[in-house]
Amino acid sequence: ALLQQAEIAMYKVKQNGKNNFHLFVSADAAAIERKRRIEFGLKEALADNELFLVYQPKVEIQTGNIYGVEALLRWKHPILGLVPPNEFIPIAEESGMINEIGYWVLHEAVRQTKEWHSSNLDLHISINVSPIQFEDPYLFKRVQNVVELYDLDPNYLIIEITETVMKNEEHANRIIRELHDYGVRVAIDDFGTGYSSLSVLNNMFVDMVKIDKSFIEHIVSKANTASLVKTMIQMGKSLNFSIVAEGIESKEQSIFLKDNHCQFGQGYYYSRPVTPEKIVDLINKKTMK
Ligand code: C2E
Ligand code: CA
Ligand code: CA
Ligand code: CA
Repeated sequence: ALLQQAEIAMYKVKQNGKNNFHLFVSADAAAIERKRRIEFGLKEALADNELFLVYQPKVEIQTGNIYGVEALLRWKHPILGLVPPNEFIPIAEESGMINEIGYWVLHEAVRQTKEWHSSNLDLHISINVSPIQFEDPYLFKRVQNVVELYDLDPNYLIIEITETVMKNEEHANRIIRELHDYGVRVAIDDFGTGYSSLSVLNNMFVDMVKIDKSFIEHIVSKANTASLVKTMIQMGKSLNFSIVAEGIESKEQSIFLKDNHCQFGQGYYYSRPVTPEKIVDLINKKTMK
């Protein structure tokens, strides 16, 4: 199979008309081999306990209190080591594995949240749900089953989706509505990178909007990005969305967002994604600046 892949790579090189084909062949073949390993490895990752979750605090910008956490998936492959989610999730989506993996994430995150609640840590939990999972007509039922299994108050659960799910607007709307009526909130992730506007979201039962980190990155250095983000915050307020700024890395950025009355923030400035034990430590330190 490897030889065949090398041949395919070679063919691509020929088509590109490059003459430094040795390098290209090995680079292509290595990338193909890595992808193959990831795809096969994912099939065993769940059974072999190679997946785990880390949690990033979501902070109330005005007070510095930790309102909740976002669960972020990690995978430690026995040979490849830590494979970043931006690499393996698209492959899991392609192969359909994302449904099973996503279900595991939901279970594990809800279980962990109940564990925090039983030690009196009042945390909300945000979970990333892939657009592929959102195509599942039973998604709501599955969420409800897990919430009931662990006896979590649904108000503590936030489902993060991207604007991509709006491609099938009617279907997406139905699931968002079901979740919303049940008490589970829906957040639009990476907002600003897609095509929808805040006013489009206003017709849906979306509760939270996360401003993409590519905007936050420039709020201090670029005047037009600053005014764009100010507008997003103001519009969010008037349309009744909670606004979350993601990717806050500096004190200056946090001050800008505080001055402009942004409600929630996440980013390395407050904390990187950490283990559940570390979350407890952070809360015991009480507030974050
Ligand atoms: P996302 O949902 O937009 O998550 C935020 C990403 O930004 C995370 O990367 C987080 O570690 C990173 N981040 C947080 N604060 C900062 C900061 O201040 N600066 C910078 N530069 N980055 C920051 P991560 O954990 O590598 O996840 C990447 C993406 O993988 C996520 O983006 C999400 O789309 C996806 N993902 C992660 N876990 C899951 C999951 O359980 N299910 C699904 N479907 N997707 C997931
Ligand atoms: Ca997210
Ligand atoms: Ca995001
Ligand atoms: Ca993302």
